[in-house]
Amino acid sequence: MTSGLATVAYIAATILFILSLGGLANPETARRGNLFGIVGMTIAVLATVLGPRVTPAGYAWIIGALVVGATIGLFAAKKVQMTQMPELVAAMHSLVGLAACLVGFASYVDTSTVFPTAAEKTIHEVEIYVGILIGAVTFSGSVIAFGKLSGRIGGKPLLLPGRHWLNLAGLLVVIGFGRVFLQAHDIQAGMTPLIVMTVIALLFGVHMVMAIGGADMPVVVSMLNSYSGWAAAATGFMLSNDLLIVVGALVGSSGAILSYIMCRAMNRNFISVIAGGFGGGSSAPAAGGAAQPAGEVAPIDAAETAELLREAKNVVIVPGYGMAVAQAQHTVFEITRHLRDKGVNVRFGIHPVAGRMPGHMNVLLAEAKVPYDIVLEMDEINEDFPDTDVAMVIGANDIVNPAAQEDPTSPIAGMPVLEVWKARTSIVMKRSMASGYAGVDNPLFYKDNNRMLFGDAKKMLDEVLAALKG
Ligand code: NDP
Repeated sequence: MTSGLATVAYIAATILFILSLGGLANPETARRGNLFGIVGMTIAVLATVLGPRVTPAGYAWIIGALVVGATIGLFAAKKVQMTQMPELVAAMHSLVGLAACLVGFASYVDTSTVFPTAAEKTIHEVEIYVGILIGAVTFSGSVIAFGKLSGRIGGKPLLLPGRHWLNLAGLLVVIGFGRVFLQAHDIQAGMTPLIVMTVIALLFGVHMVMAIGGADMPVVVSMLNSYSGWAAAATGFMLSNDLLIVVGALVGSSGAILSYIMCRAMNRNFISVIAGGFGGGSSAPAAGGAAQPAGEVAPIDAAETAELLREAKNVVIVPGYGMAVAQAQHTVFEITRHLRDKGVNVRFGIHPVAGRMPGHMNVLLAEAKVPYDIVLEMDEINEDFPDTDVAMVIGANDIVNPAAQEDPTSPIAGMPVLEVWKARTSIVMKRSMASGYAGVDNPLFYKDNNRMLFGDAKKMLDEVLAALKG
């Protein structure tokens, strides 16, 4: 393939990636967006592999890597559970970071490129230094995020004494060594500052994510998504690959916008989170820890739940992580269809951080074919709760916790929540009194108008559906 043809293919792939991002912005066009992404990526890979920069001697390596990579990807896509998606995404972000580091070191020791001017050589070295820096932070941060999301590392924020000073000192050392790196006369002399910076960047990535507490994790996940985009863009600069630069910038900026939206949804300061738990007094404590239950709860059974639903005119369903664990979305859809057929106005209220990844609930409900027009965002539905007869909370906890509004000392204080307690009756469906991801007790359970339907969400909803039909 000539370089002209490769450029045309790259432009086509870039356009497809932009269309893909546009499509993914809306559930109704998301499938088409995905398709654009797949076609764009296929064109990008083919244009790169068959492009002018790959010599025939490299084909064996490339085909070997493609086979290994595609096999692992296929295996992971088939095997991974929906509830494990966030940790899979974190693991993939770590690979982008690792790739940026490896490409950086490889470009540095590669002596085949001759730079016509000293300025061009310096620019290339700056690209290498910054690329490895972003790559290393992304790599180690994502590995820790993977550990936290999969429960291998506790969710409790690790707040080292004087951690901001540690970060600042690390930054100054990185800048100082950057100067030494650029002044180095040969590869050997430049290697030491490069390795020192890499180690500091790796430690910073670990420190940054370890300092984030339970309920703030969604922001970190989307932020690392953004970092992985910048790491890819940095790799593009090092390899002088325009497509990688553009795609990296697209991922980086869309991830940054998502992080900003998540921060607003969580009522957190964007800069604080980027700096790694900066001013982290507001960070949440132990994730998943058992909070002390306080008060009496009123249990309800499936038949009584069905009765309340049958008599209701307005029902709002609030799904959370437990619905994903129980894979209850199809039964939720069946119940919704049944109630709607009987003239009940059923709608869904989706919190921006429900579940364990952005859009988690929307994906599950779309999979179960719940019509998009009855799936509303938190801001759209919150004011309707006083006119709601039954608010049914399915496996959600933190996102419906009134302590966020009522208790200024709560670790989730200030986080906007779905105000289900304002409905005539709220029903919380979960297996026990255990706390949610943020590890805080939920006063909703003890409110007079709240009922607890204990059990696995899928099992209980099957019983409710049977009772509704019976
Ligand atoms: P929570 O983690 O707060 O609560 C989920 C509840 O589901 C638990 O209390 C659990 O209670 C219940 N549950 C678990 N399994 C089942 C089951 N099989 N059947 C019925 N219930 C079940 O989830 P939310 O969705 O309310 O809130 C999301 C939390 O996750 C927030 O704190 C958010 O910050 C955090 N987070 C979100 C991310 C995102 O991007 N969306 C990423 C990382 C973290 P029990 O054990 O008693 O059944």
